[in-house]
Amino acid sequence: MKRLITFAALFAAVLSKEAFHGHQVFRIVPKDDVQLSLIKLLEDMLELELDFWSWVTPLDVRVPSHSLQAVKSYLERHSIKYYTVIKDLQALLDEEQKQMKHATYAWNTDSFDYNNYHTLSDIYSFQDMLVAEKPNLVSKIVIGQSYEGRPLNVLKFSTGGSNRPAIWIDCGIHAREWVTHASGILFAKKIVTDYGQDTALTAILNKMDIFLQIVVNPDGYQFTHTKNRMWRKNRRPNPGFRCVGVDLNRNWNAGFGGHGSSNNPCKDTYHGVKAHSEPEVRSIVKFVRSHGNIKAFISIHSYSQMLLYPYGYTKTLAKDQKELDQVAQQAVAALTSLYGTPYRYGSIITTIYPSSGGSIDWTYNRGIKYSYTFELRDTGHFGFLLPAKQIGPTANETWLALKVIMHYTLEHLY
Ligand SMILES: [Zn+2]
Repeated sequence: MKRLITFAALFAAVLSKEAFHGHQVFRIVPKDDVQLSLIKLLEDMLELELDFWSWVTPLDVRVPSHSLQAVKSYLERHSIKYYTVIKDLQALLDEEQKQMKHATYAWNTDSFDYNNYHTLSDIYSFQDMLVAEKPNLVSKIVIGQSYEGRPLNVLKFSTGGSNRPAIWIDCGIHAREWVTHASGILFAKKIVTDYGQDTALTAILNKMDIFLQIVVNPDGYQFTHTKNRMWRKNRRPNPGFRCVGVDLNRNWNAGFGGHGSSNNPCKDTYHGVKAHSEPEVRSIVKFVRSHGNIKAFISIHSYSQMLLYPYGYTKTLAKDQKELDQVAQQAVAALTSLYGTPYRYGSIITTIYPSSGGSIDWTYNRGIKYSYTFELRDTGHFGFLLPAKQIGPTANETWLALKVIMHYTLEHLY
């Protein structure tokens, strides 16, 4: 009987969603490199189960309730400043769920609830509706399958021609960055409504194609809805380890396995067994190679409010650094002009941290000059749990920056 109860409890745990009652997010403010390395040591104390949300100083760290005392006394012992940004993570998650339940059913893309977060199946049906409504402008390409067999859909916006120079935009390589998927949906809708109305976008689409992958990591995204909202990686099991998943933005063949990635499958930045080992990455690699005419590659993340360009794995300046920096400056100026949202920009390694095996370093090394990464809102007040009412403003301001990069690319085809 006891065994049966244990089994039933285990079964329920497997089926149910992970709760985050009493988890807090700390903002930790190191005053120097010594303190920074002391904070980094915390990550290796696996029993604390800390989840580093942001490695940018000051650092944001999710602390489970069972580790609160230990982390507080560690920080205080070393005189490291910190404060609590989120007092009870579960309260925010409950709010997010409540909001999602209010989403109205959409018969078409006009009635779609853009100011809400959506499940994977809702996003799939949004894509199909959009294609059905505007077949002359949008089509859906399946570039591969995820580890668990889900389709990797890409929307192609094209007004004709063959193998035109193209712009690639992707969202959601990291599962928990929900505002990126939500923004991607809005970008798709904007492209079809603005074509023929907006001069810059019309000029772009008259000469170029836009490829938009709203969900790079569908298995991870599904998992954030059903099991663990804080999931980041894909869902590949790692043989010999109880930990699942590979960080899809550490798996590219650009400084693979270097600084800012981990060889420990239990870490959130685990790079995988080898470069391009993951189907979600390999499908994009294959697509980029076979297309051969992609001129801008933009990968969208959250959070931190930054626009970044190569490199992440080396301090060596990108050979187009000056130009990339100027375009970033213009893009950020356009973004900020809408609501005043402050953004930082620069190379990944100098602006955030070393990060090896990232997508835009690989695309840049392949000759895609205009390779950029966005880190959308916010700067840590809500972090990955950005309230749904900020989706519209986030997508609107980001769209202005995207248009600057896309239009610049159009005028500087190479
Ligand atoms: Zn990310």
